[in-house]
Amino acid sequence: MSNLSFVSPTRNSPWGTYLSQIDAVEPYLGRLSRWVETLRRPKRALIVDIPIELDNGTVAHFEGYRVQHSLTRGPGKGGVRYHPDVTLEEVMALSGWMTIKNAAVNLPYGGAKGGIRVEPKMLSQKELEKLTRRYTSEIGLIIGPNQDIPAPDVNTNGKIMAWMMDTYSMNVGATSTGVVTGKPIELGGSLGRVAATGRGVFVVGREAMRRLGIEMEGARVAVQGFGNVGSIAAKMFASSGASIVAVQDHTGSIANTLGFDMAALLAHVAEHGGVKGFQGGDVIANEEFWDQPSDVLIPAALEGQIDEQRARRIQTRLVLEGANGPTTPDGEAVLADRGIVVVPDVIANAGGVTVSYFEWVQDFSSFFWTEDEINLRLDKILVGAFKHIWETGEQHRIPLRTAAFTVACSRVLQAREERGLYP
Ligand code: GLU
Repeated sequence: MSNLSFVSPTRNSPWGTYLSQIDAVEPYLGRLSRWVETLRRPKRALIVDIPIELDNGTVAHFEGYRVQHSLTRGPGKGGVRYHPDVTLEEVMALSGWMTIKNAAVNLPYGGAKGGIRVEPKMLSQKELEKLTRRYTSEIGLIIGPNQDIPAPDVNTNGKIMAWMMDTYSMNVGATSTGVVTGKPIELGGSLGRVAATGRGVFVVGREAMRRLGIEMEGARVAVQGFGNVGSIAAKMFASSGASIVAVQDHTGSIANTLGFDMAALLAHVAEHGGVKGFQGGDVIANEEFWDQPSDVLIPAALEGQIDEQRARRIQTRLVLEGANGPTTPDGEAVLADRGIVVVPDVIANAGGVTVSYFEWVQDFSSFFWTEDEINLRLDKILVGAFKHIWETGEQHRIPLRTAAFTVACSRVLQAREERGLYP
């Protein structure tokens, strides 16, 4: 399965999933398919050792990565995740999806991703800061405002971005706000960035529903993952008239066919750190989450959630991918057979990186926009990108994922061809 000596993906693992998506797009690339192998190989991958002194005086080592999948259309761009399951292979896939996502939305970036194999809940704030600063120093070899710009992802946030920005700035001897995005507002962050990914999921979902004739008023929405992406998307769907009928997070799963009281649910999660113990619905077993009838299902947690078996159980009309890579190739084939439409991650969750782009532009110009301006521009970019992808899908009679990859890969490979091979 692997085209590279240093990873051993399987068909449904993250890199295997990404490779099968590239295989699917190849027939639609015309003469540009001459360059398609470029997309099956990350340009550059850095593995770093991160030693830190723990609060108890011992030294612990963590493994970190930064993969620059493509720098063809601009600097690398993509988040950094802290998770015990992070591997080089996973970060490679996530970096490949960033290349596709940035090109699908036409942002002037390549694609990159980073991660540390760590359970951040086990670390104190001091240890987390040391880990972040040492990681940033180690990947300082390849990041920079014109080279590669990290951002938040799973288990990372504005505070971690502030430490990254400070560490990079201290190392280069100048305050460099544009080296990371998703920063606090005081440090050159952008209004609207925290909510941007969830907002984008809603905007793209709304457009897909309109095309499919699914009424927003009363639409039943199920959400897996209730962090920064899932909770904000759910809140926006609910305030537009939809009912959130099932939610699953790392603490448990709940359902309510009448729809949750969202204000109460959000308050509960803010207080208790998860949906567990919420009284306004029934507790269900985690696997039962996939049986809950809905009109829109939003996987907004991690990769590989909708596999072949779950794809057979799912009772929905539209899968809106808030997470990166939540559907495996086998899962996707079953959904397609069953006529369930999938709006792929590379457009559905592109709102985050789009506002990261706005943040980077604002940092360079030192001129900051209002939240309304940001939200309006975000809406316009996502609506335009979705329309282009939808029409490409109709034209070739292909699923939306292949259509999104067709639009994106054509842009990347056109740029590749125009730049030419060096030397
Ligand atoms: N981590 C987010 C993603 O997967 C955002 C990346 C960014 O803002 O650079 O798209």
